[in-house]
Amino acid sequence: MAGLIKRGDIDEVRQRVNIADVVGDYVTLKSAGVGSMKGLCPFHDERSPSFHVRPQAGFYHCFGCGEGGDAYSFCRKSIT
Ligand SMILES: [Zn+2]
Repeated sequence: MAGLIKRGDIDEVRQRVNIADVVGDYVTLKSAGVGSMKGLCPFHDERSPSFHVRPQAGFYHCFGCGEGGDAYSFCRKSIT
């Protein structure tokens, strides 16, 4: 199936990309403790940061609107 991204390619992107770098292009991240960063959520309006990123785990989660995922899903959601 030409044109479709293979599962293996996605896994490779997940391993190569640092989610803090990807999210950091859109969100100003500040340290929120060991292995955790937080910033203003790009998916909903807020004034106090509830958007958390865990670079070592490769995941993000927003406690305000419930958005969550990895670097790959963040790219897809922020582009569309
Ligand atoms: Zn949010």
